[in-house]
Amino acid sequence: MPNPIFDRLFAPLADSPVPFLQLADGATVSGDAFLAMVHRGAGALRALGVRPGDRVAAQVAKTPEALALYGASIAAGAVFLPLNTAYTPTEIDFFVGDAAPRVLLADPAKAGALAPVAARHGAALATLDAHRCGDFRTLCDAQPDRGEVADRDADDLAALLYTSGTTGRSKGAMLSHGNLLSNASALAAEWRFTADDVLLHALPIFHTHGLFVACNVSLLSGASMLFLPGFDLDAILRLLPRATVLMGVPTFYTRLLDDPRFDRDLVAHMRLFVSGSAPLLAETHLAFEARTGHRILERYGMTETNMIASNPYDGERRAGTVGRALPGVDVRVCDPASGAPMPAGETGVVEVRGPNVFRGYWNLPDKTREEFRDDGFFVTGDLGVLGDDGYLTLVGRQKDLIISGGFNVYPKEVELLLDEMPRVLESAVVGVPHPDFGEAVLAVLVPQPGADIDLAAIDAALRERLARYKQPKALEVLPELPRNTMGKVQKNLLRERFAHRFAAG
Ligand code: AMP
Repeated sequence: MPNPIFDRLFAPLADSPVPFLQLADGATVSGDAFLAMVHRGAGALRALGVRPGDRVAAQVAKTPEALALYGASIAAGAVFLPLNTAYTPTEIDFFVGDAAPRVLLADPAKAGALAPVAARHGAALATLDAHRCGDFRTLCDAQPDRGEVADRDADDLAALLYTSGTTGRSKGAMLSHGNLLSNASALAAEWRFTADDVLLHALPIFHTHGLFVACNVSLLSGASMLFLPGFDLDAILRLLPRATVLMGVPTFYTRLLDDPRFDRDLVAHMRLFVSGSAPLLAETHLAFEARTGHRILERYGMTETNMIASNPYDGERRAGTVGRALPGVDVRVCDPASGAPMPAGETGVVEVRGPNVFRGYWNLPDKTREEFRDDGFFVTGDLGVLGDDGYLTLVGRQKDLIISGGFNVYPKEVELLLDEMPRVLESAVVGVPHPDFGEAVLAVLVPQPGADIDLAAIDAALRERLARYKQPKALEVLPELPRNTMGKVQKNLLRERFAHRFAAG
């Protein structure tokens, strides 16, 4: 009986004595042992009442068991719903209420706070901790190493991933077996993954990047993973000699570059460095190449679409761009209002269509309809420019576009100039309410360590280089930019913080 993800990603682990996971403490989990964990997990889920189509929600630390839970949900025919470990019980209450999972997996330390949440929404609560223990583990240990696998087809849901919801409520993106597998195949081929690869995995596994991009691609190609509980600079420097590929968010790369131990010799043997989930500054790309001789491969995607575009494995990895549409994926840039395609070189909203694109938002059919064009393209909400040669450059989220006095200001254009200014480490440009202009451009600057920024000089330099309506009406200095776990700058927090900067009176 078919089960597309199980058949392609998990079943091939059978009888493999090769380590699939190598842990920070030196322990390993062979392919066959991992498959047994998946089957025991599926047995445990069934024992808790999970039936095909049910949701399995998990807010648990990153461990082999947590990853096996993904496979276990798939084997049981369920829909896996991983949750950010930073969410509070009040936030979890929303997700559990919305998705109505049959089971909620949680850290035992949070069981007290989450028991009423699970009870309120009719979910069974089970526990699993960072040391790989808990009542769910006990239940797993009592299950057989091999069990039945539920029948599923490519259109059945495999996962429900909630968007980070920085504007309005978080929405559950419904991802099918076909969505995830098509993307894993495209990426494994594009990035030339083989069974010889060893992926250094330091990303969280509650997000599309660490869970699907990293793990699905590794599973599909028979690769193994050095599986770290989180980003730990010392552990990464220690393990890099044993890896062939690193996948990271841009902050991984800036942190590595900040450490003098990270040098050319350490990574001479590496095959590939991938970056995504947030913009990689061209400056970081160039500094990385100067230090290591490797060019980071930047790719672009989102929860709803899996990966959309990638710089080439062979060919030009162009700094500041996210490369070309993946094979089988159509990308176009359109006028946000009319939906008419824009000529090459002009900015518009990025739209995408393909087998990678999700099946809609859970419980939100109207919202789903709003985000799709009649011809099946999904409107990403990212603004970008397509070059004649198909390379896509992103210029920010549509919701971050600033309209000041009726003119559009793309934050990235101003940020790129600010980042080049003396003693500026990085910047973020946002629109805040202004009594005359509707919105005003406000720039937040982060100084280089120990440096003082000369705001008057920056103001003067910008006046020479930017049209008046694009010039920031205020420059603010902060020690660092607020970022979420995926390294994305949280512009909503900056907008809130400076909302009254130009308040009348
Ligand atoms: P998420 O759904 O959390 O994965 O966030 C998706 C969003 O992250 C996209 O819509 C983009 O705004 C942003 N993003 C992902 N990859 C990149 C990239 N390489 N450069 C710039 N932004 C990116």
